[in-house]
Amino acid sequence: MHEDLSPETLAVTAGRPERRRGGPVNPPVVLSSTYVSSGPPVPGELLYARAGTETWQSFELALGALERSARPGIVFGSGMAAISATFSVLAAGSRVVVPRHAYQLTLALVADLRERTGLRVTSVDLADTEAVLAAVRGGAEGPAALLWVESPTNPMLEVADLPALVAGAHEVGALVAVDNTFATPLGQRPLTVGADLVVHSVTKYLAGHSDVVLGAVLADDEALHTRITAYRTLHGAIAGPWEVWLALRGLRTLALRVERSQASAAVLAARLVEHPAVAEVRHPSLPGDPGHARATALLDGYGSILGVRPHGGPQAADRVVEAVRLWVPATSLGGVESSLERRRRFATEAPTVPEDLLRLSVGIEDVEDLWRDLDQALRAGTSLVG
Ligand code: PLP
Repeated sequence: MHEDLSPETLAVTAGRPERRRGGPVNPPVVLSSTYVSSGPPVPGELLYARAGTETWQSFELALGALERSARPGIVFGSGMAAISATFSVLAAGSRVVVPRHAYQLTLALVADLRERTGLRVTSVDLADTEAVLAAVRGGAEGPAALLWVESPTNPMLEVADLPALVAGAHEVGALVAVDNTFATPLGQRPLTVGADLVVHSVTKYLAGHSDVVLGAVLADDEALHTRITAYRTLHGAIAGPWEVWLALRGLRTLALRVERSQASAAVLAARLVEHPAVAEVRHPSLPGDPGHARATALLDGYGSILGVRPHGGPQAADRVVEAVRLWVPATSLGGVESSLERRRRFATEAPTVPEDLLRLSVGIEDVEDLWRDLDQALRAGTSLVG
């Protein structure tokens, strides 16, 4: 229905109430746990707020339009609830292929499912397309049921060749699920290249103001969409109406926020490469970055997450985090405020993530203010004078 509009426009226009004189331009927040009803339920009828609300529907329509999905999104109480719902489509004892670097709790969930339900797990370097597809085909143990993709990956920023992975996985009947949190629907729309499932931590860029925790799943296929929706109702991991309304409000400025923060991230990345206190910088905008060519070909924009390794090891990295004044030392990402953390401070982060890696989430502040603060913190943390 929205095919002729760009994602930037859809972020503003989709999910609005029908235009009528005297009507509101925004959907109302509806605070009601139940709806007036009697007799056998009519398909699509609102009955009870664990199964669906008007406030969800507005957000779900907007997200569905942005991801160019044939169906509305399915909103959840967190990104992890959305990810758990996605893994629920697998039969017991299935095999999944997962990136060795991905959001740490996605990998923790997979490990938990392996322990408790016999899920079989193959871990791969997502940037190595041949290795991923060999793992999906599986040789003697047979093809995987699901390939899990994050692109760019959290926190290593590896970029997957998504069209090739989808084509290869579908050849052997594997489903492909993509965590599109980092790229956002402005950067890539995985359903349009054939992915079966898309998940978001709505907490991050979509909501964009670090004031809600929410998630969402998208699926074009009717059976998958019905299954995920039923999982939400059965497991009850639902979102509150206020949070979803805030996320829709945040979504309206997605394009402005993403454009600004990406532009600033590219400026900072280029300067950080030259910084005497910095040993390594990861950002797909950098011509020397391993993900550069693929991101240029496949993504609309390089994103606003940076990986930075200061000289002096993890202790120096910790001191840099302590020394910032404008940047916020905090986990999470995708908010209007710039933040940073050393990822290996979490024992659960993948051991192949360097101990001294700082993950920076660039917000929408003035880039020169961000640079000055980062520069002084890097100098202070690594004991460089001047
Ligand atoms: N996916 C990615 C890529 C994330 O970075 C995160 C959170 O950091 C999640 C999923 C989990 O989302 P939530 O924190 O909303 O449960």
